[in-house]
Amino acid sequence: MAITTSDLERFISDFEQRMAPLERELDEAWWNLATSGTDEAREEFVRAGTEYNGLFSDQNEYRNLRNWYENLDVLEGPLLQRQVEVLYRVFAERQGDEEILGRIEELEAEANAIYGNHRSVVRGREMGENEVRELLRTSADQDLRRETWEASKTVGRAVEGTVRELASLRNRLAREQGYENYYVRSLELQEIEADELARIMGRLESETDAPFRELKEGIDAKLKPTFGVDTVMPWHLSGPFFHRAPDIAGIDLDRNFEGKDLVDLTRKTFDALGLDVRGVISTSDLYEREGKSQHAFCARIGREYPYDVRVLANIRPDAYWMDAMLHEFGHAVYDRHVNPRLPYLLRTCAHANTTEAIALMMGALVDDTGWLRSVAGADRETLNEVSERLASHRRADRMILTRFVLIMYHFEQALYADPDNGGLNSVWWDLVERFLFVDRPPGRNEPDWAAVIHVAVAPVYYHNYMLGELISAQLRNYLESHITHGPFYENEVAGRYLLESFFGPGARENWRDTVLRATGELLNPEYFVKSLT
Ligand SMILES: [Zn+2]
Repeated sequence: MAITTSDLERFISDFEQRMAPLERELDEAWWNLATSGTDEAREEFVRAGTEYNGLFSDQNEYRNLRNWYENLDVLEGPLLQRQVEVLYRVFAERQGDEEILGRIEELEAEANAIYGNHRSVVRGREMGENEVRELLRTSADQDLRRETWEASKTVGRAVEGTVRELASLRNRLAREQGYENYYVRSLELQEIEADELARIMGRLESETDAPFRELKEGIDAKLKPTFGVDTVMPWHLSGPFFHRAPDIAGIDLDRNFEGKDLVDLTRKTFDALGLDVRGVISTSDLYEREGKSQHAFCARIGREYPYDVRVLANIRPDAYWMDAMLHEFGHAVYDRHVNPRLPYLLRTCAHANTTEAIALMMGALVDDTGWLRSVAGADRETLNEVSERLASHRRADRMILTRFVLIMYHFEQALYADPDNGGLNSVWWDLVERFLFVDRPPGRNEPDWAAVIHVAVAPVYYHNYMLGELISAQLRNYLESHITHGPFYENEVAGRYLLESFFGPGARENWRDTVLRATGELLNPEYFVKSLT
């Protein structure tokens, strides 16, 4: 029996009513878990997750929705069509055996707790992630570096079994829905075309191959004499994953933030754009504390207006945390400025990659000479002296990020092709060698891939950082050449433009159309590629 459009409208509005309180509870539970790490918070998170997932378990509703989704053209009005698209995808992500869905919730919470509570033990002393990063950035003591690097990887072994089980269960659900595996299903439900993504990744690989090789040779040439070695090992590089460029040019970006109030600088940055973040700051949790998640993220608690948006961070007065603060508050201003008159289901960002684009565009200000001068109040003379080195450092950082994304892109495909693959440790290191030109330590056979938290709790997500970078470069170019005719971050007009053409429309359009509307053209990797050379 066919249902009418007005039945559909009624169904959607009833559904919103049921969804809103459960979504809010789940968001709140996630926040409480991340800020406390207690067993009670974890149980509550699992409970709220199960209840939320229960919203999508009615097979009749799913079948009807799917029917509408497959016949979008008959629906009147783009808003109704878009709501069906969005809601269908949320349903599709949560189809399957209730026991398996519950088990996945449990395992994800378990993995989160393992990462959250993990401390690297070096010479009998426990180190948090901030300390590990600091040591790998600054220490000249090779043995201590190696031990710290190895200790930081032990979380991989602790969580490996959980991650493999998660991947198998995710695959099982995806296959029951007729997909080849969870990876393939995720791309489709994220509205990402696998072929297009493969083309973009292939292009980024070939565009960065030669310049990255040159960059890596330069880094090695600097590090070898520093450490007195013939071969540069992973622990000689910056950070546990070689995520970022080591400061071989002696820029010392951190000195710009010594003794500075990062919250104040964040507020000033967004004030200059005419975007008020005081409300977000007041509900955020920004400093290190026992038991709290060691990462940084932005959380939106429900979608009722006035919006409740919070940031979790573990601030120290350095460049890493300045970047993180600008990044997370970039997510926050997006969430805060979605038009509240949109239907509930569309009151969110267009896509993970559009919100990453804003976050990345803001985070990148941390090594932007103009921003350092005008907002961070860095010393003019020192800046002039290092401005060229800063620019090449920024290019190096982007290039390394690109190469790391390529590792994740290929690794997760291998993981979901076969989660029980006994050779995954080696698959990971093959990719590290291929893309980052970092040799595996002789004889190493550890699940270092599982030390990357995304593999467990934000699966098939990393490409969104890359697409975010591409969109960010394209958007900044558009803003500065068409809207502000100068640095976007000094101009309230840029803030207004973002508000009206990027944040406000929320999920009314998909990410492709959002990019098209805001920049006048479809996604074009050219702007990012140009910024690398
Ligand atoms: Zn982000």
